[in-house]
This record gives sequence, structure tokens and C-alpha cells, in this order.
Amino acid sequence: MNVRPAFLRLGVFLGVLVWLGLGICEEAVARAGGAGGSSPSENSSSRSSGSKSSGSSKSSGSSSYRSKSSGSYRSSGSSSYRSGGGGGYYGGSEPGWMMVVRWVMWGVPIGAALLLAAILIRRYWKAHKLDPVVRPRPPARVGREAFLAANPDFEPAVFVAKVRSAFMKIQKAWMAQDISHIRPFISDGMYQRFATQFRMMGLLKQRNVLDKIKVFGIHPITFRDDGAFDVIDVWIYAVMSDSFTCELDPSMNSEGNDPFVEYWSFIRKRGTVDSGFNLFAAKTCPSCGAELPQDMGELCRCSHCQVLVNSGEFDWVLAEITQEGDYGRTLLGARVPLDLPAAVAAIAPECPDFSQQLVEDKASNAFMQIMTAWATRNPASVRRFSTDEVFAGISELISSPPDIAFARIYLNEAVLLYVTRDAAQAKHRIDVGLSASMQRVELLPDGRFRPLDWEEKRSLFTLTMERDVDAVPEKGSLYQHQCATCGGRVGDTIDVTCQYCGSALNSTRNEWIVCGFRES
Ligand SMILES: [Zn+2]
Ligand SMILES: [Zn+2]
Repeated sequence: MNVRPAFLRLGVFLGVLVWLGLGICEEAVARAGGAGGSSPSENSSSRSSGSKSSGSSKSSGSSSYRSKSSGSYRSSGSSSYRSGGGGGYYGGSEPGWMMVVRWVMWGVPIGAALLLAAILIRRYWKAHKLDPVVRPRPPARVGREAFLAANPDFEPAVFVAKVRSAFMKIQKAWMAQDISHIRPFISDGMYQRFATQFRMMGLLKQRNVLDKIKVFGIHPITFRDDGAFDVIDVWIYAVMSDSFTCELDPSMNSEGNDPFVEYWSFIRKRGTVDSGFNLFAAKTCPSCGAELPQDMGELCRCSHCQVLVNSGEFDWVLAEITQEGDYGRTLLGARVPLDLPAAVAAIAPECPDFSQQLVEDKASNAFMQIMTAWATRNPASVRRFSTDEVFAGISELISSPPDIAFARIYLNEAVLLYVTRDAAQAKHRIDVGLSASMQRVELLPDGRFRPLDWEEKRSLFTLTMERDVDAVPEKGSLYQHQCATCGGRVGDTIDVTCQYCGSALNSTRNEWIVCGFRES
């Protein structure tokens, strides 16, 4: 049901209702005020002339109707009706059966109009739950007191304002399929998720228009620590109208406007002093003050002082968006062994920079690049961070038919599942579970596509990564096309030797390298 016709119909019925109501009153007034002298025929003629004039022209008709009836109704009419008029009406010479007929005559249309109005309001409300009466409530806060004690300068209202700003900007970026304006405050993993989705949407000529965005509540609920970072999970309750269109296959078009809850996770380096810098509105570098590049792309670096703007050292950074159904009730959660915290603690002395959120972010990043490589048939884009064996496997997957792409691809979860120390190879090895909702399509030679899945399907993957136990902190991020040894820029190439420093790009000396990838 469309909003406009619904409103129109509602308006018409309410109008009829008011008109009928006023008609009754007018008649009653006429009967009472005119000492029983007015006849039914006079009443009907005055009503019909009123309705005629209102029909001929909206402005003059309604004003003439109002000035006439309301004047008589309010000043003398109402008082006469209520005090003596009532007696005159009921105590008139009319027989009882006539009164019943009148009640039926007026009661039936008014009742019907009321009923129809109620049905329309109900249907409208059901179809457009824009402002539901029953709103979900955020869960109880966890860890807030300890966080506030450690961060006395933390101002919840300022933080919430940043989250709100991030929320609105991300909806806008999503609609425009343009990451540039949100790049400074999103993690590299988030960047890759958006980049992959936008790429797929571009490939299949899809657009997602969001409108009437309304945020009902933003509540920071969980304050936790993760390695060298603080993490705040924020409960967000909002609604928007959501129109998805696919030019290549209109059968995929959909509309929606159901309210939803999402959990947005923000990270910041522990001990960061709030300098008042706002990354969510930043146009300049937080370190040197130089203007930030318009479109930083996958590397969120100041071109002047080379600092990583989204490192979490300057402000909060959005690291994850989790749907309500996935938060705390994960598909992958059941796979996390109870001794995982102990295993993480065991490698900490050798691996002081280890952060669960960061390795999950790296794994998300690798996963999305693998999926992009698959859909664009370009295995070279995963070469630099894969072992030879994994690269061979992915290349084979990509070259075997059918030619697939993803009509929809959302990474629901990335969860660290396993941490171990391989003494024989002197490596730390981690498994990250990934849960993704995807709808696969087959790309046809004529540029069109054919769905392979009829709806979004949830698939689980496991990505295994390894790094030397005595790894040297990386100089650049391999997942952002930088050599981990020297920081030099690396393209999508199947040559794994850095052209600047000559070291192997997929070396486990500096960076977590993908050594296993499987659907599970
Ligand atoms: Zn700078
Ligand atoms: Zn290098």
C-alpha cells in the first residue's frame, strides 16, 4: 500500500465523518432553535447547498460552510441544543419509530465510516511501521564503570553524537556506493566489506536507496578490552525506507521499512587521551593538521606525515556492524573453545601486538578480497597474502565454471576460533571463522546473470593464518597493498617479490599470511 493513496482515502473518510457529524448537529440545532419549525426538507436543502458550494471550490465552499454553520452552532446553536434544544428535539411531536429510523439513517453511515477509518489506520500502521509504539529496549550495560574509571575524560554524550554522525554518513555512503567520506573512521576490514559490496552492486547494476532515516536510540552497552584496544559495542535502533533495485534482474527488486537493531563496535587504542579531535567530521590529519586526501582508498594514510589516520590512536574507529540476530547469539560462537582466552594469553608474551579484533579484521579483509577475486576472476589480487598452496587452490576455484558473482554478500561474523603455537615451524597459527550471507549468481556471456541461489544463503568458512613466533612488527599492511617489510606500494601482481626491498611479500616474518581457506 502506498502512503499517498492511504492518506487520501483516510482524509476522504474523515472528511465524510465530520460532514455527517456537522450535518446532525445542524439538524438538531435547527430543530431546537427553530422551535420545531424546521422541516426535514429544509434541512436537506440547506445541507445540499452547503455541499454543493464546498464541491465547487475548496476555499470559498469550505469558508462559507464554516462561517454559516459554525457561527450558528457555536454561539446560539450549541447552547440551545444542550440546554433547551435537547428537550425540544426529543420531546417533539415525532413518533418513536421515526426516531429509530433517524438513528439508523445516521448511525449506519457514521458507523461504517468509523469502521473503515479504523481499518485504514490499522492497515496503514501495519504497512508503515515508521514509529512503532512498542520499542525494543537496549540490553543491560556491561563493563561501563570500569571503563569510566580508567577513562575519566570519556564523555558519553560526545561519543553518542559521533556514533550518530557515523550512522548517518554510512547510510549516505551506502546509497551513493562511495566510501571516500567515511574512510577516516572505519577500520580496514570495514573498508574491504563495503568495497566488495559496492563492487558487486556495480557489477550487477544494483542500487539501494535509503530514505526517511529515523534513529530511535543509540546506547553504548558493552565496554570491553581487546589486546591494546578498548572496544565499545553500541546498540542502535532505527528505521528507514529501503528500496533495492537491480537493473539486470528486476525480480530481485525489493522494498522494506521494518525497524531494526544493529550493534556497532568501535575500537580505540587503550590509554588514548581525548584531545577533542573528531575523526567523524575530520577534514585534516589528526597528527600533522595537513588536509586529508579526498579519497584515501584502502590505505587510510595521511599523504603528508604518513600516519595511519584510522589506527585507533586518535579517535574511535568503526570496526564492525553486527545484526541483532547475530549479536551474542552467533553461529560461530558455539565453535569457540572454552580455553581460547588461555590460548591467546599463552602467545601474548611472544606476540605483544596481538589483538583479537585486529586479526578478525585482517581475516575479514582477506576473505572479502578472495570473494572479489572470485567474482572478478582475478586471482592475482590475493597472491601477496597467500601461501603458494592457498593461491593454487583459489586460482583453481576461480577458473572452474560457473562464472559466479554475488548478488548480495554480507559478512555476518568474523570470529577467532583457534590459536596455537607450532613449535616445529616456529609459527603462531590462528583460525578465524567467517559467516557470510550470500546469493550467488552465474554471469552469462551476454552480460546478464542467472541466480544460482534463490535467496540469500548463510555459508561458513574458515581462514587459517600464520606468522613467525618472533615476527617483526610490519612496516606496512599487506592487506592494504603494502609490503610488510618496507612499506612500499604493491599492486595486484602474481610476483611475490617486493620491487623495492626484494623480500617475499607473503613472508610470515612480518605479517599474518593466509595458509588455509575452506568452506565448512
Ligand atoms: Zn598527517
Ligand atoms: Zn618491500
